[in-house]
Amino acid sequence: MHRLLADPRLGPWLGRYGRGPVHAAAQRVLEGLRAELARGAPPRTSDVVALVQAELERATQPALRPVINATGTVLHTGLGRAPLAAAAAAAVLRIATGYSNLELDLGSGERGSRHSLVAGLLRELTGAEDAVVVNNNAAAVLLLLAALGAGREVVVSRGELVEIGGSFRVPEVMAQSGALLREVGTTNRTYARDYRAAVSPQTALLLKVHQSNFLQIGFTASPTLEELVAVGRECGVPVAFDMGSGALLPDGVPGHQGERDVRSALASGVDVVTFSGDKLLGGPQAGILCGRAGLLQVVAAHPLARAVRVDKMTLAALEATLSLYAAGRAEQEVPALVMLARTPADLERAAGRLARRLRTVLGETCQVDVEASASLVGAGALPGVQLPTAVVTLRPRDLSVQSLAGALRAGSPPVVARVRDQALLLDPRTIWGSAQERQLPGLISLALARASAEAT
Ligand SMILES: *Cc1c(COP(=O)(O)O)cnc(C)c1O
Repeated sequence: MHRLLADPRLGPWLGRYGRGPVHAAAQRVLEGLRAELARGAPPRTSDVVALVQAELERATQPALRPVINATGTVLHTGLGRAPLAAAAAAAVLRIATGYSNLELDLGSGERGSRHSLVAGLLRELTGAEDAVVVNNNAAAVLLLLAALGAGREVVVSRGELVEIGGSFRVPEVMAQSGALLREVGTTNRTYARDYRAAVSPQTALLLKVHQSNFLQIGFTASPTLEELVAVGRECGVPVAFDMGSGALLPDGVPGHQGERDVRSALASGVDVVTFSGDKLLGGPQAGILCGRAGLLQVVAAHPLARAVRVDKMTLAALEATLSLYAAGRAEQEVPALVMLARTPADLERAAGRLARRLRTVLGETCQVDVEASASLVGAGALPGVQLPTAVVTLRPRDLSVQSLAGALRAGSPPVVARVRDQALLLDPRTIWGSAQERQLPGLISLALARASAEAT
């Protein structure tokens, strides 16, 4: 231990972290080596200092780290949903590292509103009268229901009492908001007349919820947004639509032109829509409410609004992302939109390139092929949409594919891939940029070596 800690190669680590963590890492390595010898393993010829360096590298990594997403799922909730555009990341850095006019009106010198910072862009992009931004869409729905519906009834179709991943369940959100759920229709069929029959002096709101992560087929019916708006007008009750993913571009997602964008939803006459910032919009985690100024004033003034308010970094990223839309540059610069729009031909070329590199590096240890497959949009957006892609499949010769997948996740940076039928699938759709593409063969080769060493 003495000799180890005196090695000059550990000097920088001692300088940065102090003696305690370096000593502890060296101890873990030595204990591991002693245990190997006790099991009767042949003595290692590898450099013990290098092992300590690797252990320090591992032990000092932050808990939240960048990973390479090779799953092909663009809005992968487990992997942080939408990656930010470069302009949005730059805006976050600029605002996060200094002071800003977050709640100061620079004109008057008076207290300003953080909502007003992006309301102008949202008005321009969606045609809404006003907008309020909160922490995420779950918070937007909760706040909307609490502000407009507490102690009164909110009418929802039985076909739309959905659960979105991570415990967002419409009936439970409704209960938390203090609004009373008035269910109408049946699981598969709900008509405009069902809503009309449910309206009473107790009714605060008609709510339509995007079904998001499941599809109904067969004998189904639900009123169009326009029909629902007509019922609301007739009965003098506002209509809200929880859109979930909130596409801003009319044809934002290839293969799914039926999905309504925010502007078109508002054009139907619906009073308020809510949607996420980090789904199809491709920005930061946020919940956006757009619609009538009078209703949004009530929403913004509710005490819960303070509890779910959005922070300056999110607003910076959102403003920069929305500015790309306003400038007509979103399709080129918002990563989620770029990934969704990648063509099968482009993906096939990328898969071919990756496969060639992998064959060179991996030799006989792994069978490498290219196959046609499908990528998913993710985040519960557009469950029926399968985007055609080409994947590289890896079939290790003397190793389970699970142990390879595990070793890849343990790498630095970690690589997350799909596993199917004894093959590891790498989908180039979400492998972001040529740097990641070049990095992958080395990471996979290291992971194979580590998994093989562990297996023996
Ligand atoms: C995703 C989704 C939510 C939750 O949005 P978050 O931004 O994840 O909080 C709420 N409602 C619908 C319909 C959704 O699709």
